Amino acid sequence: MTARILSGKEIAEAIKQEVAEEVKDLAEKHGIRPGLVVVRVGEDAASAVYVGSKVKTSAELGMFSEQHHLPESISHEELLKLVKELNSRPEVDGILVQLPLPKQIDEREILEAIDPEKDVDGFHPINVGKLSQGQKSLEPCTPAGIIEILKRSNINIAGEHAVIIGRSNIVGKPMAQLLLRENATVTICHSRTRNLAEIAAQADILVAAIGKAGFVRAGLIKEGASVIDVGMNSVSDVELAKELFGADELEKRLNTIAKRGFTLVGDVSPKDAKERAANFTPVPGGVGLLTVAMLMKNTVEAAKMRRK
Ligand code: NAP
Repeated sequence: MTARILSGKEIAEAIKQEVAEEVKDLAEKHGIRPGLVVVRVGEDAASAVYVGSKVKTSAELGMFSEQHHLPESISHEELLKLVKELNSRPEVDGILVQLPLPKQIDEREILEAIDPEKDVDGFHPINVGKLSQGQKSLEPCTPAGIIEILKRSNINIAGEHAVIIGRSNIVGKPMAQLLLRENATVTICHSRTRNLAEIAAQADILVAAIGKAGFVRAGLIKEGASVIDVGMNSVSDVELAKELFGADELEKRLNTIAKRGFTLVGDVSPKDAKERAANFTPVPGGVGLLTVAMLMKNTVEAAKMRRK
């Protein structure tokens, strides 16, 4: 079997196009311009890239967008004060505090201080609770993006056995809630799961959110499954690259390692997934691209819900 590659790029572009149209419509019919504020603390290089892309995309789609870049040394109280100010500004619909935060800051308290109506990351306990009760809420972007990939690729979810490897608050747990809402039969696996390989090999839909390069190999993939690879790992080991990539992309990957020192790899062996699965999301170019698109969608949703 040669898997169909599910392009995150096309789906993300389609969602962004829909968001841009909705933003235009809100402006013309209701005089509303959805606004997203992104807060970044310190000099984490990955955070700078993520934040830059979020701010740029929101501006491109016609939203009001603002970025706060605060020094690494900022106190917990100062950051809390900023969040409260943003909560009280009526033109701000979405507030995103980019993680990780420096040690002196109580991350949980900051995330819980964000007005749940402006919590476009969907991490506030109120939104987590609403999601688990099947109420309308702002949903975490990465798992919500995965549902979009499945639906827009016409992959059936209802009645299917979905197995998620990973139980983080950001991906694994909300993924389980969303798949359950779509009427899948859901199993969550984690580092203490017994017989993980046996369980994974029963999955019609297998979601890997582990953080270990190429953890999912042929034995964990049921023939004809849909495999969603959430992982984002850097691989510099040439031998590992030779195990994970098939002839179709090995040369390109080895060149990337030679040039940059690493190549971006998911939690699934692309070689094995392509051979066994019916559908597969590549890394890069799969799930990752949906996360920003869904953040934009959430900001418009937040604007509509809060401003009625
Ligand atoms: P995380 O918080 O570190 O959680 C990893 C999960 O994997 C944990 O539940 C852990 O189990 C489980 N796990 C670790 N080793 C395992 C093993 N040997 N067997 C079975 N389960 C194991 O990670 P995360 O935030 O969910 O992220 C997961 C991956 O997705 C990372 O590579 C991250 O970079 C990527 N990611 C991508 C996006 C995107 O936009 N594409 C967004 C978020 C995350 P325990 O709970 O038992 O420890």
